[in-house]
Amino acid sequence: MTKMIYPGQTIGIIGGGQLGRMMAVAAKEAGYKIAVLEPTMDSPCGQVADIRIVAAYDDEAALEELAEVSDVITYEFENIDYDGLKRLTQMAYVPQGAELVRITQNRVTEKQMIVEAGCPVAPYIVTSTYEELLEKIGEIGFPCIVKTARGGYDGKGQQLLKSAEDLQLAKDLFTHSQCIAEGFVPFTKEISVIVQRNGDGETYCLPVGENIHINHILHETIVPARIELSTAQLAEEAALKIADSLKLIGTLAVEMFVLEDGSIVINECAPRPHNSGHYSIEACNISQFTQHIRAVCGWPLRKPKLWAPSIMVNVLGQHVVPLTNSISKFPDWSVHLYGKSEAKVNRKMGHVTIMTDDINTALQQITDSGIWPE
Ligand code: AMP
Repeated sequence: MTKMIYPGQTIGIIGGGQLGRMMAVAAKEAGYKIAVLEPTMDSPCGQVADIRIVAAYDDEAALEELAEVSDVITYEFENIDYDGLKRLTQMAYVPQGAELVRITQNRVTEKQMIVEAGCPVAPYIVTSTYEELLEKIGEIGFPCIVKTARGGYDGKGQQLLKSAEDLQLAKDLFTHSQCIAEGFVPFTKEISVIVQRNGDGETYCLPVGENIHINHILHETIVPARIELSTAQLAEEAALKIADSLKLIGTLAVEMFVLEDGSIVINECAPRPHNSGHYSIEACNISQFTQHIRAVCGWPLRKPKLWAPSIMVNVLGQHVVPLTNSISKFPDWSVHLYGKSEAKVNRKMGHVTIMTDDINTALQQITDSGIWPE
């Protein structure tokens, strides 16, 4: 039997960003208390938490304090210190364990895991040095993308190589970590599936989202994704296979490419609620955050149902002022801002969700609003 954590008890969250904040808000709805470990003072999650521990993620005393005040511990991002998390599993109840983080924070172990689960990935090679890249590049050819094994996000830590002449552009990446180089996938769409599982093995996927990136940062998620039903089924089956083989507890976001023939290739996974699942707060009978809290607290999961087609649009630093000036024009938009004080360019500050009967009209409304100039 899975351990049950009851309302009134305390959920500890490692990481104080917007994902932690939305987890905390979902948990508070059911009456949980929240403790957050985060290095900055006024974090999005810290603003809504009951207990704030302001320290580095690998600070031993801080982790001990978090363990002491929390009845269960979860995390909102994957680049936390694996050894610290592992120690925490010995001092506190961490139902997600530490292995999921170890595997997904390194592209090499992540790809191996996806392949072992029986899912397709782009052809790739692992290279520890630039010289090794030069030796092995013939195995995948051009165009290809070199990515640091660790620490990349929103397109950082990667380099597209169109031909052999571009090879030196990848040199700097090796100062950061080992790299992988993978064949360029000529995708027609990018999609994601958020799969969630509790300790009793109950597993559900949220409807497949279609993701549109601008400058490598997620701009919009359209749900349901505008893909064939058979592709959506392939996507869901792949996410379920990966969740099963990991014996997932909590949330895994699986990002995928759709090819011309409707087949899919898995890009990467994140072991936490995901930007492309924010639409579920309004548009589903269960949000990714509530389901995550249910999973880590040992509750039964709810089968997700989409109330209406929806679009989620990210609000970056440069969009905050135009959005706030336009709030009165769009009564049907659900506006979320994360409480970050500095609206830096390209920093994720919030998002808007629009539920609609007609995706094309809503897309046009987003364009016409002028808030998101291309
Ligand atoms: P990632 O950090 O791996 O999610 O990559 C960021 C973005 O780069 C993806 O969302 C794609 O748009 C693009 N990308 C990454 N890998 C590939 C690939 N193998 N082929 C084509 N595009 C890619």
